[in-house]
Amino acid sequence: MVWRTVCYTVSVMPPLPAVDPTAPFDPVAIARQTGAFEGRAAEAILAWVMDALGHLRVGCTSAFGPEGCVLADLVRRRWPDTPIYTIDTGLLFEASVEVRRAHAARGARVVVVEPLVDLRTQAGTHGPALWDRDPDACCALRKVAPMRRILDRLDVWITAIRRDQAPTRANTPVLSVARRADGSAVLKVAPFVRWTRKDTWRYLLDHQVPYNRLLDEGYDSIGCRPCTVPSAGAGGERAGRWRGRAKTECGIHNL
Ligand code: SF4
Repeated sequence: MVWRTVCYTVSVMPPLPAVDPTAPFDPVAIARQTGAFEGRAAEAILAWVMDALGHLRVGCTSAFGPEGCVLADLVRRRWPDTPIYTIDTGLLFEASVEVRRAHAARGARVVVVEPLVDLRTQAGTHGPALWDRDPDACCALRKVAPMRRILDRLDVWITAIRRDQAPTRANTPVLSVARRADGSAVLKVAPFVRWTRKDTWRYLLDHQVPYNRLLDEGYDSIGCRPCTVPSAGAGGERAGRWRGRAKTECGIHNL
C-alpha cells in the first residue's frame, strides 16, 4: 500500500474585531479597523454589525436601486426588525414607490422619510423647478436634510453603495464615519463595497427579489424624475443622473 501525504493550505481569516457592549461606543475608533473587513462577505459584515453592535440603534438606508433591494432583502430575511429608511423627495417615479411598497409587503421594515419643506413651499421660497437651476440646493433640501434627520436616529448606518458604481465611490471603505449636523459621529457600514453590478443582479434574480421595473427600460440608476434619464449602459452606471452636469452625487454620502 502506498501512503500519500497530502498537504492542504487552509486560509482562515482572523475574527472580526470584538466590541465591548459595556464600554462607550466610539464610531471613530471602530472605523479605523476597516481593513479587517476587506475581503469579507457582505453577509458576514452584516452579521458582525448585528452581533457586535445590535445593542445600539442600527438602521439601513435604501433608495431601492438594485443594491438597495439586495440590502433590504438580506436584512428582511435575518434581521426583520431593523429599519430600512428611504427618502421620498416627492419627486420619485411611481415605479420607485411601487418597489419600496413591494419590499414592505414582503416584511421589510421600510420607514419613509420626507423633506420638511414641501414642493409648494420650496417653489415659493426658491422659485419653480429649483432642480433645473440649482440641483445642489434642491438635493440639500430634499435629500441631505432628510438624511441628517435619519442620522439623528442612528448610531450605525448601513448603506448598500458599491465601489464599481462610480469613480466617486471607488475608494469607499467598509467602515467609515458620517457626521450628524452637530458634528457627532455615526458609524457608517458599507457591506457591499466589493460587489459588482453583476453580483447584485445575480442575487436579485436568484432570490426573486422585487426591483424597479425602470431598470428593464434603459435606466441604470434611478433618482428623482427631473434628474434621471435612461442611459442604457452608456457612460457608466450613474450617467443618467443629472445628465449634462458635473454633479454625480446628491450629497448624502459626503456627510
Ligand atoms: S435629484 Fe434632482 S429633484 Fe431630486 S432632490 Fe436632487 S436636484 Fe432635487
